[in-house]
Amino acid sequence: MSYPELLIDRAKLKHNVQTLLSMTDKAGIQVHFVTKCLCAWRPAVEVMEEAGVQYFADSRTDNLQSIQDLGLSRMLVRIPMISQAMDTVRYADLSLNSDMEVIEALSDAALALEKEHGVILMVEMGDLREGFMPEEIIETASRVLNLRGVWLAGIGANFNCYGGVIPESRQLAELAELAETIRKRFGIPLPIVSGGNSGSLYLLKEDKMPQGITHLRLGEGYLIGIETSFRRPIGDMFTDVFTLRAEIVELKRKPSVPHGLIGPNSFNEVPVFEDFGNIWRAILAIGEQDTRCDTLAPKDDNIRFLGASSDHMLLDVTHALRDFKVGDILEFTPDYAALLRAMTSPYVKKRLV
Ligand SMILES: *Cc1c(COP(=O)(O)O)cnc(C)c1O
Repeated sequence: MSYPELLIDRAKLKHNVQTLLSMTDKAGIQVHFVTKCLCAWRPAVEVMEEAGVQYFADSRTDNLQSIQDLGLSRMLVRIPMISQAMDTVRYADLSLNSDMEVIEALSDAALALEKEHGVILMVEMGDLREGFMPEEIIETASRVLNLRGVWLAGIGANFNCYGGVIPESRQLAELAELAETIRKRFGIPLPIVSGGNSGSLYLLKEDKMPQGITHLRLGEGYLIGIETSFRRPIGDMFTDVFTLRAEIVELKRKPSVPHGLIGPNSFNEVPVFEDFGNIWRAILAIGEQDTRCDTLAPKDDNIRFLGASSDHMLLDVTHALRDFKVGDILEFTPDYAALLRAMTSPYVKKRLV
């Protein structure tokens, strides 16, 4: 054993993925499962493939490269860097796009590599991250159709990211209508109408997904087991696929308020303290280099987060359900932010169980 470690429950991961597959299948919606939060870690992606996933998506070409042999389709969900046009075409058969020059570079790359590449035009629908303005889409579609190297696979929109805008039936119906206009105008199938990420799942649950949305890009939904617009659970999905485990290196009864002149802490913030008297303080060998400490949920919710620096996390274990000693292991359920950093940190051992 070596700590910190991140346990990934194979059966729970499978269950979540299969729940979303059957839910979207019933609605006639195709899903690319987004693996960026897992850094496309192969053992986990292989479990997903076993569970029936055929379409994977990631934000980085490196990650897509490492799962080249898994599934039938791989989509790049971060708009491509023009400097990576070749790798985008090499490792992704579809990409989300919002810039005509980049699309032209993808077309040239696809011709040079003799590979097929499908372009999905992102449409700005309120969240204000990536996308063409809606009024530019018809003209852009026409220009893409004139390129010899790429095919126009669809249009899509993104929500819940920069602006926190929640996708509603209204915007998604507009997106579907825009797709219909492009189909009629140019006489093309335009199979993909990509209606967002895990924030769109609540619409499926409430049976409010407009006709004509044919595709979703899902990450947090299967990882954490929730829809991300209202952060409510979906079906009987597990919210604890992942468990982060860390070791106690000091356990002492000390005051809850520091004494001395108070200046900035290790992250240049001036801390404020509430006085709880003397408390049992545990120091864990895990820190901001391993995960995001303040959003980790201890499995025992009587344990209270006190603070963290690069390599130490402090907890108040006074009211914990059991007694601890140095060397004991504490368990946490990470949220998306904590999971992202734990997966990315080389110091955290990953283990399928
Ligand atoms: C990360 C990402 C997704 C997946 O989002 P979740 O909230 O994890 O479902 C979908 N689309 C784009 C463009 C992304 O960057």
